[in-house]
Amino acid sequence: MIQIDALPAFSDNYLWLLQDVTRRQCAVVDPGDAGPVLAWLDAHPGWTLTDILVTHHHADHVGGVAQLKAETGARVLGPAGEKIPARDEALEDGDRVEVLGLGFEVIHVPGHTLGHIAYFNQDHEPPLLFCGDTLFAAGCGRLFEGTPAQMHASLSRLAALPGQTQVYCTHEYTLSNLRFACAVEPENPEVRARFEEVSRWREQGKISLPSSIALERATNPFLRVSETSVKKIADERNGQEIRTPDGVFAAIRRWKDQF
Ligand code: ZN
Ligand code: FE
Repeated sequence: MIQIDALPAFSDNYLWLLQDVTRRQCAVVDPGDAGPVLAWLDAHPGWTLTDILVTHHHADHVGGVAQLKAETGARVLGPAGEKIPARDEALEDGDRVEVLGLGFEVIHVPGHTLGHIAYFNQDHEPPLLFCGDTLFAAGCGRLFEGTPAQMHASLSRLAALPGQTQVYCTHEYTLSNLRFACAVEPENPEVRARFEEVSRWREQGKISLPSSIALERATNPFLRVSETSVKKIADERNGQEIRTPDGVFAAIRRWKDQF
C-alpha cells in the first residue's frame, strides 16, 4: 500500500513523496529543495528515504538531490542523457526500476529537455505516472531544448497510457493552463467544467493534482491537436492551413508561450 503526498516547494512546485506505510520507507520525486523532505523526515521518526527519482536536470527538480543523498544515503535515479547530481543509476527508455516494491517503467519523453524521462507503474491500482515538466494538468512544459515534433511524440506516448493512470506532474499550473484551454476550445463543455472545478479548488487553497490520463485526453489542448476544433483555431491563428498534427502542436505551443 503506497501513499502519495505533495510537499510544496518554491512558489508552485510539488515534491511527490511516496510512502510505504508498512515498512516506513519513502521515496521522493524531483526534490528541487531538500528542506521540505528533511522537515518531513524530522517529523516522522523511524522513516527512511530509500530513493530519489529525477525526471530532468533543471534546478527546481535537482537542487536538493546532493544534500538529500548525503544526509540519507538514498539511491539517486535519473535520466542517462542529462547531468544529474549524485546519480547512482542512469536510466534510458524501456528500463525498469523497483522503488518501494513497485516496478516502474522508464519512458524517454524529450521536448522540455532532451533527456527528460517519466516513470510509469502499471501494476498499482490505479497506475501511476510521474512526468516532471512534460505533461502538465491541462498543459505541457515549454520547449527549452526539444522540437515541437519531439514534444508532440512524447505527449502522444503518455496519452496512450491507460485512462485511469494518475498523473503526478511537478507544477501547480492547472488554472492558468485551463484559462488557455478555454481559449483554444471555447465550445468544449468538459474544458469549461474543469476550469470551474479547479477555480473552486484553488480558491479553497486545494491542490489540483493528480490528474488522470483520461481527463487530460478530454481537456488538455496539447493532447487534442488532432481534434477538428483545435486544428481549426490553429489554422485561423496561423492564417493558412496547417497540414500535420506536429504543425498544429507547434502553433498551439507558440500561442501559449505568448498567452
Ligand atoms: Zn523543468
Ligand atoms: Fe520545473
